[in-house]
Amino acid sequence: MTAQNETDLLARIPTGLLIGGEWIAAEGGKTFDVRDPATGEVIRTIADASPADGIRALDAAVAAQDAWAATAPRKRSDILRGAFELVRDRAEEIALLMTLEMGKPLSEARGELAYGNEFLRWFSEEAVRISGRYGLNPEGTGNMIVSQRPVGPSYFITPWNFPLAMATRKIAPALAAGCTTVIKPAAQTPLTTLYFASILQEAGLPAGVVNVIQTSTSGAVSAPIIADPRLRKLSFTGSTEVGRRLIAQAAEGVLRVSMELGGNAPFLVFADADLDKAVDGAMLAKFRNIGQACTAANRFIVEESIADEFARRVTERVQAMRIGRGTEEGVQIGPLIDEAAVAKAKSLVADAVERGATVRTGGEAIEGAGTFFQPTVVAGVRPGSDILSEEIFGPVLAIATFRDEDEAVRLANDTEFGLVSYVFTTDLARGHRMIDRLETGMMGLNAGVISNAAAPFGGVKQSGVGREGGFEGIHEYLSTKYTLLPVS
Ligand code: NAP
Repeated sequence: MTAQNETDLLARIPTGLLIGGEWIAAEGGKTFDVRDPATGEVIRTIADASPADGIRALDAAVAAQDAWAATAPRKRSDILRGAFELVRDRAEEIALLMTLEMGKPLSEARGELAYGNEFLRWFSEEAVRISGRYGLNPEGTGNMIVSQRPVGPSYFITPWNFPLAMATRKIAPALAAGCTTVIKPAAQTPLTTLYFASILQEAGLPAGVVNVIQTSTSGAVSAPIIADPRLRKLSFTGSTEVGRRLIAQAAEGVLRVSMELGGNAPFLVFADADLDKAVDGAMLAKFRNIGQACTAANRFIVEESIADEFARRVTERVQAMRIGRGTEEGVQIGPLIDEAAVAKAKSLVADAVERGATVRTGGEAIEGAGTFFQPTVVAGVRPGSDILSEEIFGPVLAIATFRDEDEAVRLANDTEFGLVSYVFTTDLARGHRMIDRLETGMMGLNAGVISNAAAPFGGVKQSGVGREGGFEGIHEYLSTKYTLLPVS
């Protein structure tokens, strides 16, 4: 990719708010800057929505709701399918855009593009399969009709770590179900959502069905939307801390909510595991997205007898990783999203070391432009270390040990989170026991990456409420209606 390509692409990204099918300036002409985390440079200056702009966006979604719900499922499906094809045609430029605003290596941005785009294809197929049932009641006195209706206008708040996939995972099922939407992307990575919204317009999406309100004041803009009685649904992906606050706000209006929250995934390696596969899985589960994924393995819990060998092998692999700006081909580790992320990685490593762990490689921030942190392996992590209870959200692989299966399960479940777990074992019976015993919404059994548009993504405990993707995903945007027809 040349610098000229980057400039040309960025110049084509809309800078306004998308409200009612029009790209408009924010109230008072307010703007904010988007930066490339690899260089710290401003790459685009865009409209900065106010609370009043947010309500205008909700007005547009409400105005479009009835017509969109009445649009034939096949038509809704065709629009989603058209958007899928446009995204596929523009894969290279959307991947580059994600790398520019978020920092991930281009190869991974291409992977996210393929994954994120699948939600458009999957839900274009699901849009025409919304069904209900009809049948005689047990008493034989009436027929029961059970049908599905769109929930109604929905508000989406998405994080910065997967700029395309977090938007398509919400927008696609909502549109398939017949709901209109307002989306607020994270201030650090709004450009992909803006570009994607322009693609939806190109695919023929009617005005007001998707509205975009990027803002530098997410709390102030979101609160009045969530409090508005016309809103029917809130779907959020982000930290558990913010999710908890949003659930409290949504409780006022008894809103339907979907919450995709924090992770802290355990990665268990049993002595009977195929160690080559476990190491490959560990590299993917830990370093994909520079460790900044809710599904990132956070705690490597390895059987004592193989822990040293596991640490030696992952250290060797980590030392060979290429660090740099994500736009350079071959780079595996790009910058972290900001200075705060670097400071967090540093302090978690320092705390682990203070409590007795050893840094096998890395452990330091990288001086110079951008917010880089060395890919790191920390072994011998002791119970009570912060790195075992907090999401690292950085390229730090932390290894603790266990002695037997019961201890492994106890350590893995010792967290308020329950998004995903990874287990490496060649013992089939043990694998099945782990499916039952680990308290997570998802599991990789001898697999380091599990996400798929056809699978229900989501957590238990404080990792969230609801599922995105799979057959389940569309039901987050449908409400069930029961009608009785007496037998005359
Ligand atoms: P975050 O701080 O919770 O932010 C997520 C989104 O919420 C952003 O759009 C942010 O906007 C917005 N936000 C922040 N405070 C808000 C408020 N008071 N009211 C309304 N919106 C508010 O999370 P993050 O640090 O960006 O993302 C990382 C977290 O997301 C991690 O915990 C990760 O595990 C989680 N995550 C979960 C999943 C999943 O599917 N379970 C997927 C990806 C990420 P601004 O940034 O513009 O303020």
